[in-house]
Amino acid sequence: MSQTKFTLSENDLPKQWYNINADSPVPPTPVLNPQTKEPVTPEFLSVLFPMELILQEISTERYIDIPEEVREIYKLWRPTPLIRARRLEKALGTPAHIYFKHEGVSPSGSHKPNTAVAQAFYNKAAGTKALTTETGAGQWGSALSLSGKFFDLPVEVYMVKISYQQKPYRRVLMESFGGEVYASPSEHTQYGRSVLAENPDSPGSLGIAISEAVEAAATSGGAKKYSLGSVLNHVLMHQSVIGDEAIKQMDLADEYPDVVIGCVGGGSNFAGIAYPFLRENLLNGANTRFVAVEPTATPTLTRGPYAFDFGDTAQMAPIVKMFTLGHAFVPPPIHAGGLRYHGMAPSVCALVDAGLIETKAVPQLATFEAALMFAHAEGIIPAPETAHAVRAAIDEALDAKEKGEKRTILFNLSGHGHFDLSAYQAYMNGSLQDYALPEEAIQAALAQLPEVNL
Ligand SMILES: *Cc1c(COP(=O)(O)O)cnc(C)c1O
Repeated sequence: MSQTKFTLSENDLPKQWYNINADSPVPPTPVLNPQTKEPVTPEFLSVLFPMELILQEISTERYIDIPEEVREIYKLWRPTPLIRARRLEKALGTPAHIYFKHEGVSPSGSHKPNTAVAQAFYNKAAGTKALTTETGAGQWGSALSLSGKFFDLPVEVYMVKISYQQKPYRRVLMESFGGEVYASPSEHTQYGRSVLAENPDSPGSLGIAISEAVEAAATSGGAKKYSLGSVLNHVLMHQSVIGDEAIKQMDLADEYPDVVIGCVGGGSNFAGIAYPFLRENLLNGANTRFVAVEPTATPTLTRGPYAFDFGDTAQMAPIVKMFTLGHAFVPPPIHAGGLRYHGMAPSVCALVDAGLIETKAVPQLATFEAALMFAHAEGIIPAPETAHAVRAAIDEALDAKEKGEKRTILFNLSGHGHFDLSAYQAYMNGSLQDYALPEEAIQAALAQLPEVNL
């Protein structure tokens, strides 16, 4: 009988996180203080993060032990299943084999608790009294609210206003887990008030919400720390459990991926599935391709320059080198809320720049078409963010069909779309449109990149 689902036992749960910075052929780029534009000091970072996470951020150790308290919580949903999409393969008539790692089985519905639990743990251990954060579509805010509850740590969430309006049930989910949620820009911070004074109808952006959450932590006198759901090295590292489990599961399936695909917002779920396989390329002679997929509406990797830029709109977060659409970028209100960030994880950017990771941008309508094709075949409604990876996986499978190749495709199913049904409704009733960012919008935002002397 042919096997479809490849599951591991709790004993197979990884005991360590994998750090790409031990093996990456490209050195990490400097992280700069937004005021002085000199490299950041641990003292600067310690206003926002507990020391253990700062040490992970700059670590070049290949493996870092996962605390037992964190592994105990991971066991609530990990190891996650690896599934062969046999019915999708059949529907496409492709000789390719398509596998997906199902991170949608987590309590909040995405990969995000993999790092949220770890961050809540280290903050609690360091004596942090509360966490502040931002959320786009609400996935990160719900993961952190839940993780805060597990460790008895209050969580304050600044939610991008357009998502707050489009996804009321995400807010209720966060509140059900104990999170305190503000629509950003909010009246709760000085920066939020300044944005509202200029534009009372601002739909918000991740950049603005990050600024509010950073301000709330930085002005708390040390009681509150800030928590970020993507982009940073330690966040990407916590997600490596996805790829390390997938390696074992592909082995159970007696296959190895020719291509690994993930959608990219800040880069964390992509890095989570890709970096352990990239390690196999770098150290053990494997030859897998990697494809990072983004929307044509926020084409950071495919159309942004590789430059130093602020992590947030108010210029309070560190300056990092990344592909960027400019920190002043206010993205169009596409439905993949989690993919609207103006920048991208520096480590993903460095690897893209070095040619080790391929990039692809897909338009909104083709993305939802792929999502429904996947739902009809496999019975899972993917998150709109995830649907970008689904589109790219289907395109790979169709390309393999055209070339008559057997190709093994692995993609990360970063989350389910049960809180995104209004986007599906808009797609099915024909009110959703494709949107490609005009070049002028990119140029205008880029005019505000910081000058750095390096
Ligand atoms: C947040 C989110 C993303 C985008 O964030 P990354 O850090 O790039 O992974 C993608 N998919 C889902 C389901 C998300 O919740």
